[in-house]
Amino acid sequence: MWGKLLQIAGEQLQSSIAHNINHTFHSIKDLMDAKNRLLRCLPKVDECIGLLMNDSEVEAPQNIIKAVVQIAIDKERESILSGQSKDEERSKDEWISVFKENIFKKMQPNFKRVINGTGVVIHTNLGRSVLSKTTTDCLAEAGGYYSNLEFDLDTGKRGSRYSLVEELVCYLTGAEAALIVNNNAAAVLIAIDTLSRNKETIVSRGQLVEIGGSFRIPDVIAKSGAKLVEVGATNRTHLYDYEEAISEETALLLRVHTSNFRIIGFTSEVPAGDMVSLARKNDLLTMEDLGSGSLIDFSRFGFPKEPTVQEIVQAGVDVVTFSGDKLLGGPQAGIIVGRRDIIGRIKKNPLNRALRIDKFTLASLESVLREYLDFENALKNIPTLRMLTISAEELQKRAQRLARRLTKKLRQRCRVHIAPTVSRVGGGALPEFSISSWAIVLEPSAMTLNSFEKKLRNLPIPIIGRIENDHFLLDVRTLQEREFGELDGLLAKLFDIGASGD
Ligand SMILES: *Cc1c(COP(=O)(O)O)cnc(C)c1O
Repeated sequence: MWGKLLQIAGEQLQSSIAHNINHTFHSIKDLMDAKNRLLRCLPKVDECIGLLMNDSEVEAPQNIIKAVVQIAIDKERESILSGQSKDEERSKDEWISVFKENIFKKMQPNFKRVINGTGVVIHTNLGRSVLSKTTTDCLAEAGGYYSNLEFDLDTGKRGSRYSLVEELVCYLTGAEAALIVNNNAAAVLIAIDTLSRNKETIVSRGQLVEIGGSFRIPDVIAKSGAKLVEVGATNRTHLYDYEEAISEETALLLRVHTSNFRIIGFTSEVPAGDMVSLARKNDLLTMEDLGSGSLIDFSRFGFPKEPTVQEIVQAGVDVVTFSGDKLLGGPQAGIIVGRRDIIGRIKKNPLNRALRIDKFTLASLESVLREYLDFENALKNIPTLRMLTISAEELQKRAQRLARRLTKKLRQRCRVHIAPTVSRVGGGALPEFSISSWAIVLEPSAMTLNSFEKKLRNLPIPIIGRIENDHFLLDVRTLQEREFGELDGLLAKLFDIGASGD
């Protein structure tokens, strides 16, 4: 009885499995057929290369054409095999135009200038500080000609590349000596490595920051072979915290600008001057990583008060480091200023050779520093400073002017108007501070904001803006006057408007 029942159950199960397998087999077969059909439709590599080589519109070496064709076809084959291909075939003409587009893209430089409409003045992702024409002329000269990079024209003997800017940096900051390295991260690394290797560096817990791009103060201290001693609490650190942490092993008291974040509320930090007194009493050195580091006090333009480099040097801090391309408005560089004997020790560190700056940095940095010999010149001629300090009224006028131009050009394709907005300093400086500004608002009539934003990024000169509350904005603070004429041409191209207007 039980045996019979089991036998029936087993037969039923078998037939059901067989049915399923059969079904699955059929769908697999259909799928294979569809895939084979798509695979057969893929164009022949050699034939395509031949066509493209003979196409007068295609200007590329054969190996580029070959690579582009091969990669595109391989990619399509893979997506067919993995079942991800959309179930439609391209005609040969369509393939050829895809290849042409890819070849065109491959032949364009990867490094491109962009138009910054984000309103973030020191935009790390978009190249931080923009240089003036005077300064970029210096770059061209440094590149196109021989120079006295390491040649002393007075003695006719070998000279030092640093001597070309050291005096200028000292004059502007009030420091005894200076050294320039690749960037501020390098400046911090080489300074701590020189002053605190195998010794202890004391830092407040409120200043153990991550700057971005994986630059964390504790990691840099570890990398330089120093031992980090954290003191205080996240929000409050007192002089006695440093005092109690000082031991036989201590070499350095370090202050770090918190740059990209703020601790607000019940807070306290030890001022540079107090730390210097404590260090001197204990025969220790002090260092301050200022991050942005400005030579000009921006509080007169309504910015929150930040200590200038001169003030920190004046307070007696032994070594001060800051960036060349943040608030200074120059090229990427790390500027180290301080006591002559200490800068001398840093110069002799073998790391210095690895972190040294090239002639382009030297040429452009000198040009920018010379503007600072007269602060009014600096504010007028250094693009970063000019963008930061231009008034909202001036920006409104600019926005109106640009909006009129664009309205005329784009007509019904895109509504153009202006609106107040706020800009940011960027580069980790004054993160919570918003500067009143004006923006061009663009409302394309026949596309979504996301596809508009993408099209803007794909223009020959990409335009980068902001989407805010369902509006696309271009903050005029970071647009350069000379880009206005390019903007209407680029937008006309995006909307397919010809030279005649439509
Ligand atoms: C930005 C910053 C750095 C790194 O400077 P780079 O010039 O980008 O290398 C280091 N420390 C602080 C406090 C900073 O703000």
